[in-house]
Amino acid sequence: MSHEEQLQALRKYLKVRNKRYTVERESILELISDIEGRFSIVDLYQKAKKRDMVHAASTLYRNIYTFVDAGFLTEIKLREGETVFESNLNNKSEFMLCVGCGRLTRIDLPALEGLENRICKEYRFHSTSRVYQLRGYCEDCNA
Ligand SMILES: [Zn+2]
Repeated sequence: MSHEEQLQALRKYLKVRNKRYTVERESILELISDIEGRFSIVDLYQKAKKRDMVHAASTLYRNIYTFVDAGFLTEIKLREGETVFESNLNNKSEFMLCVGCGRLTRIDLPALEGLENRICKEYRFHSTSRVYQLRGYCEDCNA
């Protein structure tokens, strides 16, 4: 999913829900679109600071769940009580994109991983990323 497509999905998602498209939200999208692995709000805050993005940690707290709701992030509650997030926008995620409301739904496809391994082995191909994406309408939009 290109950055342009991510922006489009975010805009659509916010518009359908009468939420404002803000500069803060756009730069948070930029931050999470190339983040690898699990991260906490503190990690995100430090990343923002490194890029000279001026965000109060409270801005990140306030907006992060918009991205969880939109399916861009998955929230993971650790046993120790800590909450971390994982981006669904990185290059090894599979998801369905609703073109009606912009919501992303992550899909876990272990079978796809097996298939990828088989193909790579057969062609002696070393894969570094993959794109698997279904586009259509979610249950709500389809109703
Ligand atoms: Zn939808």
